[in-house]
Amino acid sequence: MLVTDQIDMTIDGAAASVDASFEVLNPATEQVVGLAPDCSPAHLEKAMSAAQTAFGSWRQDLGVRRTALEAIADVVATHVDDLAAVLTAEQGKPLHEARREVLRTSDWFRHYAQVALDPEVVQDDATARVDVVRRPLGVTVAITPWNVPLALAAWKIAPALLTGNTVIVKPSPYTPLATLAMVALTRDLLPPGVLSALSGGDELGKAMTSHPIPRKLSFTGSAEAGASVLRASVPDFKRVTLELGGNDAAIVLDDVDVAAVAERIFWSGFSNAGQVCCAVKRVYVPRHLESALVDSLADLARSVVVGDGAVAGTQIGPLNNAEQRDRVSMLVDAARFAGADVVAGGAALDRPGYFYQPTIVRNLPQGSALVEQEQFGPALPVVAYDRIEDAVAASNGGKYGLSGSVWSGDATRAAEVGSSMDCGTVWVNTHGMLNPWQPFGGHKASGLGLENGRWGLDAFTDIQVRYTPR
Ligand code: NAD
Repeated sequence: MLVTDQIDMTIDGAAASVDASFEVLNPATEQVVGLAPDCSPAHLEKAMSAAQTAFGSWRQDLGVRRTALEAIADVVATHVDDLAAVLTAEQGKPLHEARREVLRTSDWFRHYAQVALDPEVVQDDATARVDVVRRPLGVTVAITPWNVPLALAAWKIAPALLTGNTVIVKPSPYTPLATLAMVALTRDLLPPGVLSALSGGDELGKAMTSHPIPRKLSFTGSAEAGASVLRASVPDFKRVTLELGGNDAAIVLDDVDVAAVAERIFWSGFSNAGQVCCAVKRVYVPRHLESALVDSLADLARSVVVGDGAVAGTQIGPLNNAEQRDRVSMLVDAARFAGADVVAGGAALDRPGYFYQPTIVRNLPQGSALVEQEQFGPALPVVAYDRIEDAVAASNGGKYGLSGSVWSGDATRAAEVGSSMDCGTVWVNTHGMLNPWQPFGGHKASGLGLENGRWGLDAFTDIQVRYTPR
């Protein structure tokens, strides 16, 4: 698989020929890395009707589905080098992170291949037997963002397929190639129409979500687009799962060993250049520890290797696209203009590519957008607090409630503080640990519903109650 080739869409189990395509840029060089097909309305119709037809038999045999998911796990792991190279070229992340994403993607398929799908018996006595059975919904639309395209696609495809649904996946127009390549690898492993991959822009996403055939919309991306997806679900009551933005706080307690936690907090904020929904996006630290923590974070920010993810030794790649780089730049400039201290970084790199220096900011004025909004980039604000209640209240401010963490020498105390945080996941002395068996979802504007674990699986089903009197 050459990155500079066009990678085809998969429709009805085969490569789809197209008349139009669009360029995908390497964010480290701004050079074209490949062409992605531009899905036409006719392609969309073909994918939808193939998925609907395939659903009839795909839902019948759980054994067939388990075997297919195992085979997908194998083929993805076997192609780790090819897929990681495409992912780094179009997304920007360092190759070792791209490899890890591909292997995690494989893990997700393997996990779901083995998950139990047993009906629940809620009554079994002299009066009646009542079974609760989960039934697949039908055609599922899976839409993903540009930060973690393969793994987030697997979060949707694997449980949807296991439960007997068929899937049409649409990656972001910034990062379509790795997903198209991954789905192309599954063509011989699945019946035609069970899994299709389409590429195109936001308009394609709108056409997919408002189409009458799908019964489930599983979306990861921004809150604004998520609201649009939710609206599209309303007229015909499509089931919806939304994983949206976040503004995760890391709350450091007063007993922490700064030297022991600084590096872990740093990487929780700067992996994938900060472009992670559940990255640490703001740090709250007791005032007497502020300087020590800021100094440690700033030292790390100055010393990490920023560069092309394809080059060995790179620790932080570029932002994925110019708009995102400019947004991060604007947020840091606004904080500086308002009087904040930019103690490390604070500017784009003077070279081709969408690079921004790893940045640490302190002494931010109240209401600073860098603290209150999702920056989704390598610029971390550190906020000093005097009372833990104030830090928790501040962390609960704003529209998001995805996840957060508490850092302390006393894990029990940290968990207690975490229980006051309004968010879907709280980590203690770590951040961003995700597993296929662990539900993940946001409170407030961070989303609707859950992915992963039994909860994520259930979201691809409707319940049927079977009541049999004795
Ligand atoms: P985005 O919302 O712009 O795009 C995401 C996907 O949705 C793309 O494929 C896009 O083409 C499509 N899309 C856009 N508008 C649409 C519409 N109206 N209808 C249907 N589809 C539409 O998001 P992005 O900029 O690619 O990703 C960044 C955002 O994603 C951040 O806010 C980040 O926090 C969030 N995110 C959340 C999670 C999570 O699990 N909560 C994970 C990763 C990223």
